[in-house]
Amino acid sequence: MTDQCFSSELLHLEQALSRILKVVQPIKGIEKKSLKNALGRVLAQSIYSPINIPPDRNSAMDGYAFASDNIVKNKNFTLTHVGTSWAGKPFAGKLLKGQCVRIFTGAVMPENSDTVIMQEQAEVNQCEITFPENCQAFDNVRQAGGDVKQNSCLLASGKKLTAVDLGLLASAGIHSVEIKRKLRIAYFSTGDELIAVGESLITGKIYDSNRYLLFGLLENTCIEAVDMGVVADDKVLLEQAFLSAANAYDVILTTGGASVGDADYIKEILAKLGQVNFWKVAMKPGKPVAFGHINNCIFFGLPGNPASVVATFDKLVLPALQKMVGMQKKSVLRFKATCQKILKKQSGRQEYQRGILTQHPDGTYSVISAGGQNSNQLKSFSQANCYMVLAAEETEIAVGEKIWVEPFERFI
Ligand code: AMP
Ligand code: MG
Repeated sequence: MTDQCFSSELLHLEQALSRILKVVQPIKGIEKKSLKNALGRVLAQSIYSPINIPPDRNSAMDGYAFASDNIVKNKNFTLTHVGTSWAGKPFAGKLLKGQCVRIFTGAVMPENSDTVIMQEQAEVNQCEITFPENCQAFDNVRQAGGDVKQNSCLLASGKKLTAVDLGLLASAGIHSVEIKRKLRIAYFSTGDELIAVGESLITGKIYDSNRYLLFGLLENTCIEAVDMGVVADDKVLLEQAFLSAANAYDVILTTGGASVGDADYIKEILAKLGQVNFWKVAMKPGKPVAFGHINNCIFFGLPGNPASVVATFDKLVLPALQKMVGMQKKSVLRFKATCQKILKKQSGRQEYQRGILTQHPDGTYSVISAGGQNSNQLKSFSQANCYMVLAAEETEIAVGEKIWVEPFERFI
């Protein structure tokens, strides 16, 4: 990032995001962890299966195994039962023509067998087993490597490990993996008007809600987040907080003080200690967002208003954190829904209004505003389940019009 990148213009959200993604890079540190300690962490390298999965050809049913050349077309046929293949205890012999073995789900297919007929279709008369006409050759057999071939890619680098991934790794006999270290993030609120929950409210003060928002937004297996409290609107104190956090963390997030009021020092201090890339984005809620860095530490100065904090976190910070923790790129789920009640906005900024999305029995979606859309209003955010994405130039959306919605999904 250079000073030439500095921008005092109002950037479109996409421009701001692409500048952010150009600057932030995946962290380098790697840790080796056992499977249970790797859940929710990001793989640091691709993993190739050391074995076929399943390792052996085996039965998908409880039934009888035999060679398909015993099948008689359009006629039932009888084979002699010569042994049993249990799951974990295979039949040791070799099947001859006219013979079958009793076999259970997961048991290894005996040599010279390629077909399993389920037990419900077999008629047992002591050692003579009769099978119906129209038996299909090769039925009910799972091939070795039918799920995963030996040496093929099991999981790609950048995969955030899910419960299913742990199961998949275990099925390949892998007991530990290399994952990215956690991303270290420090966050604090700024503002002389803020008091902490638990203190009594006095005129002119408000409770600091942003640190609780950020606590929740940053709660993640890939992140180690530290709450640095509230810093007053005081240049010296802010400078100290910036410097101490920049030395110890990968990312600093602040809220408040990012706009153009007399007590808004964030941009000024960021410019003094590091570099400002941009500080205004044409989105609503959330116009004043400072982005830059102090040495190797990435800095986001989010707005003070709580609804703006959430929207700017979702749209600008989250994609950056996903890249920094080494995750594969994640696309945002977005589709169209029918507007149920007139929506209004001012022209100029792309808006992320809070909406309530409903799916109808025929599978279609409709959406309605979740309530107050001002950037200080959190209640509608709490009731909403989606963003309604309204283009910058739009001013009114009529009932029945289709609009873009993005269901809330906040994980990295
Ligand atoms: P600022 O960007 O500092 O001018 O703040 C914009 C608005 O957000 C003001 O009304 C602030 O009082 C409010 N605000 C700032 N920080 C917080 C916070 N941590 N919790 C709740 N409201 C805040
Ligand atoms: Mg302030």
